Amino acid sequence: MKKTYLLTPGPTQVPESVLALAAKPILHHRTPQFMSVMNEVQEGLKYLFQTKQDVMMLSSSGTGAMEASVTNLFRKGDKVITVNGGKFGERWTKISKAYGLNPVEIKLEHGMAVTVSQIEEALNKNPDARAVLFQASETSSGVQMPVKEICELIQKKPDCISVVDAITALGVFDLPMDAWGIDVLITGSQKALMLPPGLACLSLSEKAWKAAEKSDLPKFYFDLTKERKGLAKGQTAWTPAVGLIIGLQETLKMIKTEGLENLFKRHRLLADATRNAVRALGLELLAKDSPSTSVTAVKIPAEIKEGKAVPKTMRDKYGVSIAGGQDDLEGKIFRLTHLGYVDKFDIVIGISALEMTLRDLGYSKFEFGAGVGAVLKTFSEAK
Ligand SMILES: *Cc1c(COP(=O)(O)O)cnc(C)c1O
Repeated sequence: MKKTYLLTPGPTQVPESVLALAAKPILHHRTPQFMSVMNEVQEGLKYLFQTKQDVMMLSSSGTGAMEASVTNLFRKGDKVITVNGGKFGERWTKISKAYGLNPVEIKLEHGMAVTVSQIEEALNKNPDARAVLFQASETSSGVQMPVKEICELIQKKPDCISVVDAITALGVFDLPMDAWGIDVLITGSQKALMLPPGLACLSLSEKAWKAAEKSDLPKFYFDLTKERKGLAKGQTAWTPAVGLIIGLQETLKMIKTEGLENLFKRHRLLADATRNAVRALGLELLAKDSPSTSVTAVKIPAEIKEGKAVPKTMRDKYGVSIAGGQDDLEGKIFRLTHLGYVDKFDIVIGISALEMTLRDLGYSKFEFGAGVGAVLKTFSEAK
């Protein structure tokens, strides 16, 4: 027998109480019972997004909400600034191009966060830019971006909005939408919402809704104006992902019970423990100076020639699923996740399997237990 453990940055682990809900009969979505679920979920999402605005739910993976942001907010030919810090930032550029926008891309070196001055410079060079589209946490590189400062800058520009992909950030670290003036905030079910894939959530500021009124891009299924109208009646425009929304009711309850402060604190501690372990093993983070609280990307040491063997051995030999690198980072990094339904001993398991794997693959610049020891030390010293 072999137990398996899911420590990838999406899908993430789903709590047992949510899995059990899947065994219940399906509710019809145009009923008072489901509307009361919708209303409770809406309250919970507003708490999580820290907003007074409506939070729309789309039946899609996270990319659907990214696409909906583009098609609902812009006009053909609009210039937008995209931040490409990796695979997901690059996706902003691709979606923008697919819909005939004119993206100006800020391409970052692997492991770098965008700086506020880079954004400022791009905005100065492109005063006609309608938006800055970026990630709060770039999952492919394990880098966290300065969301607050970027949004502050954009708030001063009357015709420009901030579009923040927080798919691995919301519910991990503080992103108060209203307080920071974030115009579009996006998340997806299979990350910190602790659900199976298939649901995307997003919210728009007043400024973003104004931009939406002027949009002329084609849209039908992902029409946010229709979704907003539906929400006023406790409904969605189309048949909702009923099972996922019922699961969301449960995970939002868990989030509320833990409280945002504690939730952020837990994630910080798990991220710290993971980074301390990695360093204790003599390994290097990909993130230069702004590692993400959601996921830790680690460079494969030179002693290991076949980098892809790290996640493969972890999964096939030890039953612990982690992520490798994507695209040009394939075989060069691996990624350990500490987001969602994760607690202290998930990290102990992940680092234990990592130590065994590194030894198996010929990297032995550490004493067994060095990484796990660093994890336990971090936990025991935490206040
Ligand atoms: C997972 C993820 C997405 C969305 O990917 P989907 O496969 O469409 O859910 C987008 N951005 C980031 C930063 C992500 O981590």
